[in-house]
Amino acid sequence: MAKNYVKYHKKTDVGPNQRLRRRSVFLILLILVAGFGAVIARLAYLQLVQGSYLQEKAVEQQLTDTTVSAKRGTIYDTNGKVLAQSASVWKVVLAPAYFETEEQRVQVAKDLAEILELDENDVYEKTKQNSYYVVVKRKIESDTREEIIKLQEKIEEEYNLSNVIQLLDDYRRYYPYNDLASSVIGFTGSDDQGLEGVEYQYDSYLTGTPGRIVTAQNANGTDMPFQYEQNVKAEDGNSIYLTIDETIQSICEKYMKKGIEDNAVANRGVCIAMDVDTGAILAMVTVGGYDLNNPYKLPENTQKEIDALPKDKQGSATSAALSQMWRNKAISDTYYPGSVFKIITASMALNEGVVDDNSTFYCNGSMTIADAKPIHCHLLSGHGTQNFTQAICNSCNPAFIQIGQKVGTEKYWQYYQSFGFSERTGIDLPGESEDIFFSQDGSMTSVDLAVASFGQGISITPIQMITACASVANGGYLVQPYVVRQIVNSEGNVIENVDNKIKRQVISKEVSDKMNEILEYNSTTGGANNGYIAGYRVAGKTGTSEKLTSTNGSEDYIASFCGYAPADDPKIAMLVFFDTPTGASYYGSQVSSPVFINIMSEVLPYLQVQAEYSDEEMQYVDTTAGAYVGMSVEEAKSKATEAGFTTTVKGDGDKVVSQIPAVSAKIPNGGNIVLYTDSSSEKEKVTVPDLVGYSISEVNSIASNSGVNASISNAGASSAVVSVSQDIEPGKEVSPGTVVTVKFAASETLND
Ligand SMILES: [Zn+2]
Repeated sequence: MAKNYVKYHKKTDVGPNQRLRRRSVFLILLILVAGFGAVIARLAYLQLVQGSYLQEKAVEQQLTDTTVSAKRGTIYDTNGKVLAQSASVWKVVLAPAYFETEEQRVQVAKDLAEILELDENDVYEKTKQNSYYVVVKRKIESDTREEIIKLQEKIEEEYNLSNVIQLLDDYRRYYPYNDLASSVIGFTGSDDQGLEGVEYQYDSYLTGTPGRIVTAQNANGTDMPFQYEQNVKAEDGNSIYLTIDETIQSICEKYMKKGIEDNAVANRGVCIAMDVDTGAILAMVTVGGYDLNNPYKLPENTQKEIDALPKDKQGSATSAALSQMWRNKAISDTYYPGSVFKIITASMALNEGVVDDNSTFYCNGSMTIADAKPIHCHLLSGHGTQNFTQAICNSCNPAFIQIGQKVGTEKYWQYYQSFGFSERTGIDLPGESEDIFFSQDGSMTSVDLAVASFGQGISITPIQMITACASVANGGYLVQPYVVRQIVNSEGNVIENVDNKIKRQVISKEVSDKMNEILEYNSTTGGANNGYIAGYRVAGKTGTSEKLTSTNGSEDYIASFCGYAPADDPKIAMLVFFDTPTGASYYGSQVSSPVFINIMSEVLPYLQVQAEYSDEEMQYVDTTAGAYVGMSVEEAKSKATEAGFTTTVKGDGDKVVSQIPAVSAKIPNGGNIVLYTDSSSEKEKVTVPDLVGYSISEVNSIASNSGVNASISNAGASSAVVSVSQDIEPGKEVSPGTVVTVKFAASETLND
């Protein structure tokens, strides 16, 4: 289209000031070259070499910018799994100035509207603009692109117009795991700008530098043909590696979702898993999350409620529901930590040296401070005299009021601040809230101190709680939690490594060690549901805290468990909390501990923390049965014995033709493997006995006498457990050796 150029630019005669004019033009261009690069060079060449007249103002007018999307960087989990990425799509751009007839406009508008599923009149309006750049639709996929290419060919053939429709690069954000870690990752808007989570917080890194289409215009302001437009190439954004581990995140989400369902939780749940030494967040869950590929879609029941509202109320209700859904509860909501906070009060008292192993605390069921109402213990009859460890294991409120009194308001306030409360943790995510404390200056009353000692009256964020807990676990160091560990450029070169930050030492290593010991003891003695995992040393504390709200006339609670493992060398700290469970129980020990246990049972082996079983645990640790088929009877018997199993041989053959349990079935140590040497004996059946209501050893003996194997599930180290269910009903006929899984629970009321 070089001919058009000549048409649009007036040639002038060469005058006496020509040299000067050329120099000033050159200077102006030199300044602009820095910004516009190649296109200016080209224009300069045309202007100067061809001797065109150019005024300063004209230069500005002759250039307009249109941005070209840069490819946004990828978000990876810590192991390089893609959590968010930008896929190529296209932008359909119209250059209506090329149209020569009304018929062409009408026909192209019709075709475009059909392919792009747009309103025909809207598209037609665009065909009337005197421009070479009108965006018709963004983010079209490759199948639509194919149709546009066909339309381009048709237009070229029928009207001999080649540039009237353009396809330009564009990108669409895509989240391969849908709702996984939604509150952490966040999402982007229609212009690819980060709106929530890491997408928002790290937007300037991810976004890249948009390219430009520079268009030369004629004096009338009409864009010039595309041949004079030049692409300034877009620069891809940087990519980000999170500290989040997709595997751990998935395990947490799986059990958190189950916890929400099992306990009819009304107001969502939170789980945070943290590396205790660095503050790196391994998993951060808010359930229910939302689909990152469809972030404006509300849960069905919420949508129904909104639809039922009057029309004029729907808009504000929708935005309120959306921001609630997007809200990262782990950092944005505050809650009363309840008894979990006794970890902090106990650590303060030990570090101040105001308590030791010989200290005793008395509980008669309640305690009165000043002229306030009596504060009750959860055990109304009272715990009597307790030492420090017993006070923690009993989760006795009056004992903790006494511990708080020994610390005193001044020291309590100092430690409260030192443990990272009263300030944001500074995690690299948007929307972190501050905690709510009695007063800014820390002038606590004796009643304030009493309730704060057992975790009421102070409203903190979950991220503050887990960070303080990590400092108790890791030798006393308060770390700064973070979710991004590395930023790399589009060539994969590291441009920033995030170093973990230790803020200060809060308690001594000795106090940390002592707390690890006490909290491990608490986990193993508190009953089957208190955080105990066979083979692993877990330290932790349950909490059941009252909220100031009520649902359906009954008081609302938060059920939580905060702990870490392994207790003798802590690596991972985790907080599990459910806001307003409305099911059978609202106790932390019943609602949150099982979820904590289930998650840790999978996460610790994944982190290659070796299980170490005590002799007692070995009695009911399950092992894989192993393969015996094809072996001689003698061979099979000796292999099974070596693996710690007993055997029963059925049939008169020499070789094992089948076995029960199956090769990969898990059976308890000392379980029985039935070896069949001919097929006729396989028809033999035994009857499943009733295994509910017994101790572990009773269950093992009944099962063995009946010819089945019992797999013990959920039994704590405490012997005070009783079987509560079995997965195959009594009376059912099964093959000998069949594994019946028997679930246990604590036989006594659990603390707190
Ligand atoms: Zn008590």
